[in-house]
Amino acid sequence: MMRTNLKAVVVGAVLGVTGAAFAQGTPAAPASPKAAAATSKAAPGKGAAGAKAGAEAASGKTEVTWWGHAAFVVKTPGGAVLAFDPWLTNPKAPQGATWPEAVDAILVSHGHFDHVGETKALAQKTNAKVYGSFELVGLLGLPEAQNQGGNVGGTFQVKDATIHIVEAVHSSSYQADPKGPSQYAGSPVGFVVEIANGPTLYHAGDTGAFQSMALIAEQFKPTVALLPIGGHYTMDPAQAAIAARLLKVKTVVPMHYGTFPALTGTPDALTAEVKKVKGTVKVLALEPGKSTPL
Ligand SMILES: [Zn+2]
Repeated sequence: MMRTNLKAVVVGAVLGVTGAAFAQGTPAAPASPKAAAATSKAAPGKGAAGAKAGAEAASGKTEVTWWGHAAFVVKTPGGAVLAFDPWLTNPKAPQGATWPEAVDAILVSHGHFDHVGETKALAQKTNAKVYGSFELVGLLGLPEAQNQGGNVGGTFQVKDATIHIVEAVHSSSYQADPKGPSQYAGSPVGFVVEIANGPTLYHAGDTGAFQSMALIAEQFKPTVALLPIGGHYTMDPAQAAIAARLLKVKTVVPMHYGTFPALTGTPDALTAEVKKVKGTVKVLALEPGKSTPL
């Protein structure tokens, strides 16, 4: 029963990717004023981009944009653009928004389709380097210069962002073709990103809560955690509240909920669970497509 349901969800979602990816490939007029604003913001000329990056650096701001599910784009004060788990065509993705024009690094937590998403297309378009497990990044068939496969314990520098690969408790396999076999894709991972003059972000990928989150806290002192709360394949809100306590973060940005019917956790439920464990963490629920300073 569960297996049948899972298959239906996966097939439906993959079909969704194909259709949306096709739509993305055809330049079209934005459907709404909101979409037009998103488009003009997302695709400035080179000069405008430079000026904007300069302004952000001056104000010392890090900006995060949620693309729905586990997909985020983060811009640092030093001008690094990082894309996490870029399934940019997921059902919750901002409608009509164009993909980021310039990306320095793509961070992929594991091989499942809803996390690899459009990694290959985005890497081809932007020349970004791709970080993740050695096995998974190797399966993507990228040019050598873009292949930054590593493993838990590895540290990488991208402009003013220091990226650490950390543990996640989940599974990982990769299907290059939705109808083809699944391939072993190494261990699932999470990422801690220390941003100079900015926050230290922890993107947990898909995971349950685990005791070594306390070790992540000790090693890297993250201030903001992007945590899955949907349940079924990951932590639910009650477990995420405990995770936030282990991580000692000030802020939790919930992710990986509401995309499919099985992912039933909500930010409100997380807020209630934080209160139950007498936590002080702030739950910052983002709106897809809206850039938020951190
Ligand atoms: Zn997964």
